[in-house]
Amino acid sequence: MTSNDLLARIERKDRHLKALADMSVKMNSFHTLEELMNFVATRTRELLESQRVTILVWNTEISRLVKVASSGGEEEELQPGSGEEVALRALEAHTPILLSRDTTQEDAQRSGSETHGPPLSVLFVPFEDTEEASGVIHVERPFTQRAFDEEEISLLTLIASQTASSYRNVQLLSDMKDQLKNIHAVQEVGNLLVSTLDLDTVLKLIVRGIRDVTGAEVCSIMLWDENQEHLVIRASEGIPKRVVREARVRRGENIAGWVAQEGKPLLIRNIDEDRRFVGTAGGRYRSKAVLSVPLKARGQVLGVINVNNSTTTKVFTEEDQELLMLFANHAAIALENSHLYGELEKLAITDGLTGLANHRAFQERLVRELSRAQRFQQEVSLLIIDIDHFKSINDRHGHQVGDQVLRSVADALQDQLRKMDYVARYGGEEFAVIMPQTRKTESVRIAERLRERMANERFVKVDPTRSVTISVGVSEYPSDAREASQLVERADRALYFSKENGRNRVTPAGMDLSVATGA
Ligand code: GH3
Ligand code: MG
Ligand code: MG
Repeated sequence: MTSNDLLARIERKDRHLKALADMSVKMNSFHTLEELMNFVATRTRELLESQRVTILVWNTEISRLVKVASSGGEEEELQPGSGEEVALRALEAHTPILLSRDTTQEDAQRSGSETHGPPLSVLFVPFEDTEEASGVIHVERPFTQRAFDEEEISLLTLIASQTASSYRNVQLLSDMKDQLKNIHAVQEVGNLLVSTLDLDTVLKLIVRGIRDVTGAEVCSIMLWDENQEHLVIRASEGIPKRVVREARVRRGENIAGWVAQEGKPLLIRNIDEDRRFVGTAGGRYRSKAVLSVPLKARGQVLGVINVNNSTTTKVFTEEDQELLMLFANHAAIALENSHLYGELEKLAITDGLTGLANHRAFQERLVRELSRAQRFQQEVSLLIIDIDHFKSINDRHGHQVGDQVLRSVADALQDQLRKMDYVARYGGEEFAVIMPQTRKTESVRIAERLRERMANERFVKVDPTRSVTISVGVSEYPSDAREASQLVERADRALYFSKENGRNRVTPAGMDLSVATGA
């Protein structure tokens, strides 16, 4: 090598490094994959003085390399066919592949009878940050010009590595944007729920929200018919009216029926390849990618939400599934709020005399509040309240007066407790109060105030001299108990202590033992 050659090489290396530094800075400023890859393709083509640059990225959903950008030579296919195959090999081997073919000799021998394409130097350099951010840069140059050399391979390797990390950044950015958008969409539906009571309106909004967020072609909410035998479409987008009217799915039948029966979500990438639904669904759904989640309230499946796409290139993801579950929760709330279920349920859970929640409703609510408290790591307080010497009111003034007093006490409890507190008639002349997000110090204070107020009220209209007092036991989740039944038991025991120690008294769980055994 002459000193001129050496000088030229050093100069070229210097030029490359400067260009690479410039390129790196610019690459981190892009917000979309398209912008980033177009830039990389264009700059790489200039830097490597090549005829064509193609960038392929790995699509995890379809498990294939997909062309996302190219620069130069679009009109003529330089290397038909095999390009993608070699690119895949480079990606799998994590190493560049250089194919340099000097065909001038062969061509000369063959005396130009066949068109074998021009001689090429072809270079494939893989990039990989994570599996989601990987791909191959594919560079081509006529061999006659010059084959790619070591220096150029290392330059492209550096470009590839910078491309991988910029690609990852672009993904993170768009994930964050998507998530924000999705969470907003779900919240919006939630907000509308509060203000919209009409079930069909709410379900329609949910279906639209789902389509916007998942980009599904088809979305439907199916609910049980009157006989609870078939699922029928109650709200939908992208389904012809006739199909909506006629669609009926039996429990366990097809996808929706399966989801309703099992109470579990189902994510299918390609229905044609899923053995469980071979034959049954393909023709009927005319869809490939399917996601279906159950719509549950209190452990009961009320229906199913489905989204479908007709092609496998638009499959649904686990993230879509989570979002759909959020929407399903909203739909379940809407159903619960709706008259259809609401009125019936209301009768079943309300105490006829006082209008408070009954014992069953209390038990269910307590379990729900505890699991919520567990999720959000909050305290829940529980009061059990028993009217003192209630029997004597009945005995002296009769049952009707007793009833009247029970009603008045119930009203007074609801008046004086906070909106967030859940008051129930626990038994005959016993009440229970669930206090979410409330520590014992606070709930004991509230109970004490309640006890005082009650003592000062005159509940027995026919006998204004008579005061009605209450005894209270207080327990707290999780410090006293983690299970609903145990939490009730702890409050009950504390209540018993109040009774044993003069009534008209509030006892926190824990105190009952220490005082009883200690002092
Ligand atoms: P203590 O201070 O020990 O709680 O005395 P108490 O008399 O309140 O307790 P006890 O359990 O001995 O009596 C409760 C009474 O409440 C007995 C029952 O007849 C009466 N009772 C239960 N349910 C109703 C109701 O719905 N209406 C009326 N009027 N009385 C009821
Ligand atoms: Mg009692
Ligand atoms: Mg009593």
